Amino acid sequence: MYLIKGIKHLRCVGVWDMPDGKAEDFDPENAGGYRSPKNEEERRACIAKALDYYNGCGDKTGDFGIEPITAEQAELLGDFSAEASLAAMDFEDWIQSKSRPCRYCKNLFIPNAPGQKVCKRPECQRARKNEKARNYKRRKKSKPSQDPA
Ligand SMILES: [Zn+2]
Repeated sequence: MYLIKGIKHLRCVGVWDMPDGKAEDFDPENAGGYRSPKNEEERRACIAKALDYYNGCGDKTGDFGIEPITAEQAELLGDFSAEASLAAMDFEDWIQSKSRPCRYCKNLFIPNAPGQKVCKRPECQRARKNEKARNYKRRKKSKPSQDPA
C-alpha cells in the first residue's frame, strides 16, 4: 500500500483484495480489504492510480510522491485522520507519540499494553514464543552447571 504525498488530506492506494483485484485509492479509515501489491504489474497499477488521484485533486501541497506503508500502518492512518484535526500534528509525529517499532519486524504498532514490545503479526508472535521457550530451556540448563571452577 502507498500513502499519496503532495496532497493536503490522507489518501492511500492499494489492491482491492478480490478475485479481480484492482488498484484503488481509498480513505485510510477504510483500509480493510486492501493489500499491498504483490508483483510488478500490481505495483505499477497502484502507482498509476496514485498519480491519477493526485492529478485530479485540487488540494495539492507539493510534488507527487508515494510512501510505501504496511497494512497495519494504513489502519493507524485511519486513527490518525480521525484525530488529526484535534492534534494538528504530522502523521510522523503522531505515530511516534502513539507507537513503537516491533522488536522483530521493526514495523510500527500501537501497543495494547504499556509493556508490549511485539506486534500482532503471526510471524512475530511465533518468534516471541520461540524465544521465550529458548530462554526457558537455557535457564533450566545453566542452573546445575553454574559454577564449574
Ligand atoms: Zn512485528
